[in-house]
Amino acid sequence: MQQDRRPRQDELLRVTGLKKYFPIRKGFGKKITAMVKAVDDVSFGIFKGETLGLVGESGCGKTTTARLIMQAYLPTAGRIELRRSSGEMQNLAELDARGLHELRRELQMVFQDPYSSLNPRMTVRELLSEPLAIHRIGTKSERERRVEEMLELIGLQPEYMNRYPHAFSGGQRQRLGIARAIIMNPSLIVCDEPVSALDVSVQAQILNLLQDLQDKLGLTYLFIAHDLSVVRHICDRVAVMYVGKIVELADTESLFTAPLHPYTEALLSAVPASSPDLKKDRILLRGEVADPASPPRGCYFHPRCLYVQEKCRTEEPKLRVLKGKPGRFTKCHRADELELRGVPSFSEVSLA
Ligand code: SF4
Repeated sequence: MQQDRRPRQDELLRVTGLKKYFPIRKGFGKKITAMVKAVDDVSFGIFKGETLGLVGESGCGKTTTARLIMQAYLPTAGRIELRRSSGEMQNLAELDARGLHELRRELQMVFQDPYSSLNPRMTVRELLSEPLAIHRIGTKSERERRVEEMLELIGLQPEYMNRYPHAFSGGQRQRLGIARAIIMNPSLIVCDEPVSALDVSVQAQILNLLQDLQDKLGLTYLFIAHDLSVVRHICDRVAVMYVGKIVELADTESLFTAPLHPYTEALLSAVPASSPDLKKDRILLRGEVADPASPPRGCYFHPRCLYVQEKCRTEEPKLRVLKGKPGRFTKCHRADELELRGVPSFSEVSLA
């Protein structure tokens, strides 16, 4: 599925029909009684140099999608392809153990918790040079120089090299986590809720650092988050997930100002107003998120949707691009007729 007006040869990562089902086993024989469809037929592309946000409530499948891309899980079905330095798209499922080892250089991850993602027994020098040593890159002194360079890039003094992670604040540790990810010169970095464990004041610094590094090094990010204000700040495009499926995908500004899916509208109504003059009516969704082991018939969102009609209860909508709105995908039968409420654009806020 093409998801933007840009040509497909500019895609760095292409995910097609990705599924991950986890079996539920019960009884003495541990028979499979049901499947949790954590990720169910997800397709999207990420273009070189962009930041694609993946948002949704807990359990919607965004972290499972990230783990599938990182090859931490084997998919139940679907393809994950990465553009290699030769320019060819490589299906990651075809890689052998050696190929996967090589791939780790190109795919890196920044984790949510900067406290547990760094080994407390290793110094900064050891932590940052470890990936280079594993991949046998450079001599010891070259690796050391590279560590110094990274520390400068992330705004820490090279003198901190001999310190242990406990000597740093949460924000500084997350900087180290980012340095460890970029030291390999990866083509794609998966950021899994990288600021949600940090204080609000530190969050902005880390987001700015990620943006600076993207500008300097041409990085590409898949940015997973549940905080929409953070997503708006950093992402070029956003995909919204609900019960294992993408329900809307668009450029960030369009999605925020004029959403096309009722679930996106509800999520946006919970974003705090950016100005005290702007009044907001929060949409309180009825009921609970659907169970991915036994989702409802038709549109998965229909038991909670304010705009539900008979068709929604029986027929599952397809993720489709709307007529006259290239690059805007939605999975709603009524997307052409509904006028949903977003949040004011940045320019309106600054004029307010
Ligand atoms: Fe709501 Fe129907 Fe659209 Fe689903 S298809 S989001 S139930 S209007």
